[in-house]
Amino acid sequence: MSDTLLARLTEVVGATHVLTELGGHPDLADYRGVYQGRALAIVHPGSTAEVASVMRLSHAARTPVVVQGGNTGLLGGATPDESGRAVVLKLHRLNRVRAIDPSNDTITVEAGCVLQHVQEQAAAADRLFPLALGAQGSCTIGGNLATNAGGIQVLRYGNMRELTLGLEVVTAQGEVWHGLRGLRKDNTGYDLRDAFIGSEGTLGVITAATLKLFPKPVGCLTALLRVASPEDAVSLLGLLRQRWGGALTAFELFSGSVLGFVRARLPDKPLPVPDLDEASWYALVDYADFSGDPVQQTLFEKPLADALESGLLTDATIAQNEGQRQKWWHLREHGVMEAQATLGRNVKHDISLPISRIPSFLVQSQARLQQRFPALFIIAYGHLGDGNLHYNLVRPESLPLAEFIGWEDEIHELVHDLVHEFGGSISAEHGVGQGKRDALLRYKDPVELALMGRLKQAFDPEGILNPGKVLPASVWPGA
Ligand SMILES: Cc1cc2nc3c(=O)[nH]c(=O)nc-3n(C[C@H](O)[C@H](O)[C@H](O)COP(=O)(O)OP(=O)(O)OC[C@H]3O[C@@H](n4cnc5c(N)ncnc54)[C@H](O)[C@@H]3O)c2cc1C
Repeated sequence: MSDTLLARLTEVVGATHVLTELGGHPDLADYRGVYQGRALAIVHPGSTAEVASVMRLSHAARTPVVVQGGNTGLLGGATPDESGRAVVLKLHRLNRVRAIDPSNDTITVEAGCVLQHVQEQAAAADRLFPLALGAQGSCTIGGNLATNAGGIQVLRYGNMRELTLGLEVVTAQGEVWHGLRGLRKDNTGYDLRDAFIGSEGTLGVITAATLKLFPKPVGCLTALLRVASPEDAVSLLGLLRQRWGGALTAFELFSGSVLGFVRARLPDKPLPVPDLDEASWYALVDYADFSGDPVQQTLFEKPLADALESGLLTDATIAQNEGQRQKWWHLREHGVMEAQATLGRNVKHDISLPISRIPSFLVQSQARLQQRFPALFIIAYGHLGDGNLHYNLVRPESLPLAEFIGWEDEIHELVHDLVHEFGGSISAEHGVGQGKRDALLRYKDPVELALMGRLKQAFDPEGILNPGKVLPASVWPGA
């Protein structure tokens, strides 16, 4: 049976685009090397029509299909299981920009387009595509849609869901839904677009999307701001939202102790933070300048001066040039991750909370963790403007990695239980994949879970799309 399927897949996409010698192939493991799987083949279709044919053949053969974009997801959503039965459908050849319509402020791109390429194409048309995240040089629009990715400008522009107007999707059975509508208003029934966004390859294969574009700022003013506490950071966020309005595009928070950790772990890379105070907290903020008028500098600086005078800010450094700005953003997007990686695997949480409750969450989570795991170091940083924290735990060097990893489930439960108590979500922007699938049973409303199961049944009754991801087996028996 599998030989027949492979022969037919080869007829559809060509022999060079069906890989079957897969020993150690990087697409069978996730980005962090936490999840590992096997596959019957990795298939590289070159068009929507080829994706549809692959789906029809796989559906007829009841063969699982795992869609993969840039494979930068953090929860094993794009990694096949151990059975070796699945076809991995890698979409990097679907990489065309189909249309840019500057008057409608839209761009229509194929799912395998790398995010950074889409940003560049928008910029060439004097527009902004605002999704921006650390993996933008390799993640794809399809993966961004399937995980409803967020990133650093959600505060101003929203996450992938808010940035999407239309989709083209191949169903589990191999039909093509031509939904590439560039409409901002369309109330003609159930919103299927929103069902596919965030579905992590379990409801359909996204092959193209029509995305929103925005006016391109002529410049960006950036500051690194020091506050005494998370409470003050929340007050500062409120002040800047009020005074800067839509010009505030990013508000990222780090604890001073996290920056001290980065300095200690990466001694060869000078920390671009003058006079670091490890007991304080730091906010990295961007102000988008749409006019280039010198008055923008005053509008940017005046609230900061007022906050310094009132004592809300204890220090403020304004980036003097693009190089300084880039160093701060590199620290945010790569430096913290690199420093954590020097200690091997760490225990990660991508959580969201009502912004107002973040300060007390930080106090209570630290107390509970210190009581149970006093040796662990907390790395708390993230998109405060969206109520989204990356809340990671690293081991001291003296603690063997295996012992630390043995605590992982208990640490997750402790942190996620508290997030739940605070009315938060255990996945803000990375999705569910296989890593958080079973945790849904503990935290998600049972009726909501049952409805998710019925949706899956309606879209993919044979269960061939990304089995074992998102839905716990007890919710959807085909999982
Ligand atoms: C350094 C780094 C920084 C990151 N920062 C952020 C961040 O700030 N914000 C954020 O939200 N995320 C972040 N992420 C995680 C983020 O989810 C991914 O980077 C990205 O959105 C996934 O895109 P991808 O193409 O790599 O998808 P993949 O990893 O290939 O796939 C992810 C999921 O989407 C499914 N999928 C992929 N393509 C399709 C498709 N065409 N149709 C249907 N399903 C599909 C897969 O089956 C899988 O379930 C980061 C990751 C890294 C490594």
